[in-house]
Amino acid sequence: MTLEETLRPDCGACVGLCCVALPFGRSRDFAFDKAAGEPCRHLTPADGCGIHSELRGRGMVGCTVYGCHGAGQQVSQVVYAGRSWRDGAAMAGEMFAVFAVVQGLHEMLVLLADAGRWAVGPRRGELDALTERLRAASGGTPTEVLGVEVDRFRASVGEFLRSLSAEARGAAGAALAGADLVGRDLRRTDLRAADLRGALLVAARLSGSDLTRADLLGADLRDARLDGADLSGALLLTQPQVDAARGDERTRLPAGLERPAHWLPPHPAGAH
Ligand code: SF4
Repeated sequence: MTLEETLRPDCGACVGLCCVALPFGRSRDFAFDKAAGEPCRHLTPADGCGIHSELRGRGMVGCTVYGCHGAGQQVSQVVYAGRSWRDGAAMAGEMFAVFAVVQGLHEMLVLLADAGRWAVGPRRGELDALTERLRAASGGTPTEVLGVEVDRFRASVGEFLRSLSAEARGAAGAALAGADLVGRDLRRTDLRAADLRGALLVAARLSGSDLTRADLLGADLRDARLDGADLSGALLLTQPQVDAARGDERTRLPAGLERPAHWLPPHPAGAH
């Protein structure tokens, strides 16, 4: 199986892990409270979502912007070979702990897969080696997975991606890592090759912006306006970030990321 296939969520091959293992609280993203380990009230006996086609209208936006990056089917089919949290409380507790580890590993694999679009030369070899170590760690027995030192992997991957991003961006881009840009109108700001790691871009206006080689690792793009923006060359952008933003059919995305179904048609000329 290719890395891309491994990281593409396949809910049909998962035992509904995210809908049971993860907690959420009543908020603008969720319509009710749910504790960790408690099956969601909308989870069907066949481990599907009973309101999948109407999540946004039912106040469950959080479900639409969540991504397990393939950790669900990896745990269900590879680590546990088809067994389920429904097989008993002990099994459930262990399986949820394994899911947390594998999800962390897959989050890093998603970023490494993106870096594969632009890493060249010896850096490509380093990238491939790191990727293989992570893939092996996420496919062991439950005991082996629980023994994985996720924080050490996180440190290695973080350092590797930081230096790779710096090389790709060069010295010219704006330094906006961690910046509070909530609601800001950035349409006239040159964001090419900008360092936007961890930036708060909630509801920011990026309509028509060119984000080529901008590093968006961990940037909060909830409700950010991306209509007509060019993110095709953006670095370290993930599907959940895109799903949380607002774009349109003119928005250009990196290869491998999908246009969310909730994005609206383009605004009429002059409506910005
Ligand atoms: S609403 Fe659907 S997708 Fe969200 S947690 Fe419940 S079953 Fe899962």
